[in-house]
Amino acid sequence: MIRNEKGYEEHIKPSTKVLFRIKGRGKYLLTNEVKPSLSLTRVFETDLHGRISMEGLLMGSIFAHDPYIIPELEKIDCTFEELNPQFFERNPVVDGLLGQAVGDAFGVPVEFLSRREVREINLRDMVGCDSGLAFKSRWNGLIPAGAWSDDTSMTVAAMSSIIGCEGEIDYEDIMKQFLNWWERAEYTCLDNFPFGLGSTVAGAFEKYHRGVPALWCGGSGFKDNGNGALMRMFPFSMYCILNDYTQVESLELIRNASRITHGHEINLFSCFFYTLFLNECIRMRNPKRAYQSAVNRFFDNYRSSFSAKSMEAHKLLFREITEKDFDPDCIPESGYVVDSLTVAVYSILHTDNYKDAVMMAVNFGYDTDTNAAITGSIAGAMYGSSGIPQGWLDALRKKEELIRIGEKFSACIGAC
Ligand SMILES: [Mg+2]
Repeated sequence: MIRNEKGYEEHIKPSTKVLFRIKGRGKYLLTNEVKPSLSLTRVFETDLHGRISMEGLLMGSIFAHDPYIIPELEKIDCTFEELNPQFFERNPVVDGLLGQAVGDAFGVPVEFLSRREVREINLRDMVGCDSGLAFKSRWNGLIPAGAWSDDTSMTVAAMSSIIGCEGEIDYEDIMKQFLNWWERAEYTCLDNFPFGLGSTVAGAFEKYHRGVPALWCGGSGFKDNGNGALMRMFPFSMYCILNDYTQVESLELIRNASRITHGHEINLFSCFFYTLFLNECIRMRNPKRAYQSAVNRFFDNYRSSFSAKSMEAHKLLFREITEKDFDPDCIPESGYVVDSLTVAVYSILHTDNYKDAVMMAVNFGYDTDTNAAITGSIAGAMYGSSGIPQGWLDALRKKEELIRIGEKFSACIGAC
């Protein structure tokens, strides 16, 4: 049974399938009706799990007799059933995780510097205390190049919990893994040195130690709307996306995932829109179309789930970000979740590759590592890790471990 993007399901007999790979793009075409010359063949573009993301018609003769006529097509000698994720060059979980970690590490050295200071520095490479910083940094003398911070550590801690629970989500266990990061230095890229804990997350840890259940630990006041839940939302968003969650299921999961540390509705709104946008970016691989589709989906299906106050808080995101005379510098320099989401969506929307998107996010200043981590997770999942500058990837700490965790996570979701 295969479901296409419009939601209908159909049976396709495996024995009649022929697969082609579009070289260099990590996409696959699947046909089930290879016909004689000059007839049309129905083709499907499939994602990691064989779900159809596009369908259309191509000339049957090309597929049936000589696929090599089209240079970017390559025939694969296996049936659909024999395919498994290792055949795919791209795994959006691994790509998004690497994208997040690289963005995080790239932004760490200029964290908390003003927009003006960051733009003067004009950061282009992964730098740190070991590469001789030519500017004043909060982390002077402490953090080497390529080191990712709390954003990625908490993301990895959440993924490790879900892997350990065999694909189930156990919020108590996720909280325990967060504490293992901060108190036992697990899930860190620098041995015995967890860094970057935010105040709202610290407050949630304190409540948990006092015996409050994990789902009630997140602060629920307006001042608790920092970006500390959004920065680690990637695995939960992918969980919804890859499991084809319904509207109700997605909202519940994202709400719970946020409220372990951040319980205000504005946070849930930001985390939820991030999930919609990430989904559309992976599906469409076109920022502008993805943004429009995410906005449409939000207003068609989810608008009534949120208060007017939350809508108002996100007005830049919906009303002005695409307007020609919109001045991006009106997005405040802060760690407010709405500002970080707006920076990420703006940076994705106004660039067409990973590097430019992450550099733009960093140049918004202040919470540079988190803004770049959020932007990087979307850009990595959309453009693939091959789009990350090689020098940045080479400098990344514990890259192989991140790849292994990403692969395990996607495998355990696939097994659900
Ligand atoms: Mg950080």
